[in-house]
Amino acid sequence: MSWKLTKYELDNDNLLTNESLLSLGNGYLGVRGNFEEGYADGFKSIRGTYINAFHDETEISYGEKLYGFPETQQKLLNVIDAQSVDIYLDDERFSLFEGEVLAFERNLHMDAGFAERYVHWVSPGGKQVRIHFRRVVSFVTRELFALDIKIEPLTPVHTVKIVSTINGDVSNYVDKEDPRVASGHAKRLRVTEVSEESPFSIVKAETYVTKLEVACVSTSTVRAENFEYTSELSDAAITETYVCEGDGAVHFTKLNVFTDTMRHGEDLIDEGKVLLHRVHDKNFDQLLSEQKTYLDNYWAISDIEIEGDQRVQEGIRFNLYQLLQSVGKDTASNIAAKGLSGEGYEGHYFWDTEIYIFPVFLMTNPMIAKNLLLHRYSTLGHAKERAKELGHEKGALFPWRTITGSESSAFFPAGTAQYHISADIGYSYIQFYLATKDEAFMKNYMAEVLFETARLWEDAGHMQNGQFRIDDVTGPDEYTCIVNNNYYTNVMAKHNLLWAAKIYRLLEEQDGDHLRQLTSRLELTENEVEAWKSAGENMYLPYDETLGINAQDDSFLQKARWDMKKTPREKFPLLLHYHPLTLYRHQVLKQADTVLAHFLLEDEQDVQTIKNSYDYYEEITTHDSSLSSCVHSIMASKLGYSEKAYSYFNETALLDLENTHKNTKDGLHMANMGGTWLGIVYGFAGLRLKENGLSLSPVLPSEWNSFKFHLRYQARVLKIYKTREATVYTLVEGPGLEFIHNGEALYVESGKELIVPEITV
Ligand code: BGC
Repeated sequence: MSWKLTKYELDNDNLLTNESLLSLGNGYLGVRGNFEEGYADGFKSIRGTYINAFHDETEISYGEKLYGFPETQQKLLNVIDAQSVDIYLDDERFSLFEGEVLAFERNLHMDAGFAERYVHWVSPGGKQVRIHFRRVVSFVTRELFALDIKIEPLTPVHTVKIVSTINGDVSNYVDKEDPRVASGHAKRLRVTEVSEESPFSIVKAETYVTKLEVACVSTSTVRAENFEYTSELSDAAITETYVCEGDGAVHFTKLNVFTDTMRHGEDLIDEGKVLLHRVHDKNFDQLLSEQKTYLDNYWAISDIEIEGDQRVQEGIRFNLYQLLQSVGKDTASNIAAKGLSGEGYEGHYFWDTEIYIFPVFLMTNPMIAKNLLLHRYSTLGHAKERAKELGHEKGALFPWRTITGSESSAFFPAGTAQYHISADIGYSYIQFYLATKDEAFMKNYMAEVLFETARLWEDAGHMQNGQFRIDDVTGPDEYTCIVNNNYYTNVMAKHNLLWAAKIYRLLEEQDGDHLRQLTSRLELTENEVEAWKSAGENMYLPYDETLGINAQDDSFLQKARWDMKKTPREKFPLLLHYHPLTLYRHQVLKQADTVLAHFLLEDEQDVQTIKNSYDYYEEITTHDSSLSSCVHSIMASKLGYSEKAYSYFNETALLDLENTHKNTKDGLHMANMGGTWLGIVYGFAGLRLKENGLSLSPVLPSEWNSFKFHLRYQARVLKIYKTREATVYTLVEGPGLEFIHNGEALYVESGKELIVPEITV
């Protein structure tokens, strides 16, 4: 069934991967899919509960530290563990690693927003029990993580004992061998309070350096014929024990509320109690029913229905569901590369947000998209400071990886040098404007971001022989670093510069007063605006006449070509087996670079150049980054390479479900998940959002019978249904819409359907 992800086996080899796949979250709080009772000794677990953006700061130790290297980095912390519940039948502790497992099933319900686990277990001593675990991280009360456990002994027992813990003695996961995971600073949380105020159990903790606080206030109920309760408080944990007499069924429910200093007031514990009081009277099924209503609303617009491939359908829904679980919905947070499902990349936000994830929300849930922009806006101050540190007189340089807005990347060639992130952020503001026509947002936020990023480009580049050039930056491809005139960077900077100038002129016409206030606050001059225009118009975009392609940068095509055929499979990803310099010296790509630029700004080149470039770069692209295959799918769709489009799409859609990158244990690949949506909507359906409006050119993959999805666009909801015979557009909400279908202008009336038959030749 495509609405749930099911696991029928314990699968000891994939325990860590399943923790990520079955994780729950709501954008604020995330809990990995750990077993309440844990694993047997010798089995590794990444036991994790995370609050988006809740972090500590750690010192970066460099062998050789040069000017402007960041001194500290941020790290998303594993917070208080409220998942732990042990169950005893008399004195035998329930564990799936002992005795006999007669039945096992785990489900993640993507339509209903909860996870469950059924087990039928025989203890080593021969006692039988059925246990049904359910858990939910609420979309309605974001602080709430609730557990519900039904225990049904099937053979006589004297007692069923439940031992439930709230534990602040937690650490983060580290792996010294993998640069994609933290290598140190495992423990960063100190417990400051453990207390019990009936009916609440409380643990509060504080980070070592940032002094951020987190509290977990928890309350449990037991339904059993007769039980005795005791509790024990230690320095870092509170343990509640319920001994239930007899062999009747026992029903245990635990509500945990997390509060933190970034979002809640002075007294985290009091706030936690108030929140718990609000949900306390609801039983678990009521919580689930609220959750369902929330998700019904989400899926009504966000679902993509595929007829013809169940597995891919499951992949799409899984990816869209996990994006919703991880995306920050307050301005203190964004969406981390692994969301709230794991600790890879330490909870940092990258350009993944703007280029891969933001468009999904922009076109389905613009409020969430707006929040992502507001979060970046709130870090503009840091970006301006960082630009100064990097020697720019003016402008904003956004950090390559961050939680708070300050740079957290210690490896500048593939970090800070990726200046393109500033243009990527600018691009997402422009897309927001095109999709929503939100003039107030444009005036109050977008203009300033575009002006400050344009200033950066103006300062970072220089005019030579009438061409504007940008030297010593790194494009998206992290196997080619610190180069002059990376095509992607230059073309995105051009867009940024020209739009900044355009918005300035637009504001001049529309709201001179506002512009005057803004320019005076930013000390912006007319000359600067003219300089942006000139830099944009004269931007140098590398092009190779012989190959008829855009060169990735000035030196790329002169390097030796990497021999892909001679590279054994086990040497991928190359970054784990070759020194960076070996990679930099070759024509070899970690991920789409020029090909991505051709997708984002397709009107900058003719189709032949785009095609030649695709053919050229595809052969030397490893797709070692999970941000790559979706872009190749989209561009293969554009170029009519339908088999390739489908095969890259398939890789994208199933990347985490099939753990093809072998590191799903560290968390799910959020950008790739967004890429699945992009592969369908921008790829197969050919969506583009430009100044002349919305255009589509849907093509049905031969493997499918139909696909269907919705778009929000300028206060409208448009349904697109593609079958073999036709494309059916239905304007579900909002006023009539003119749009472009296969290059032709069409009009769909409000509430009406427009059927465009497929032309067969
Ligand atoms: C990719 C980057 C990406 C980062 C986080 C890296 O492997 O090369 O483009 O931003 O992962 O997902």
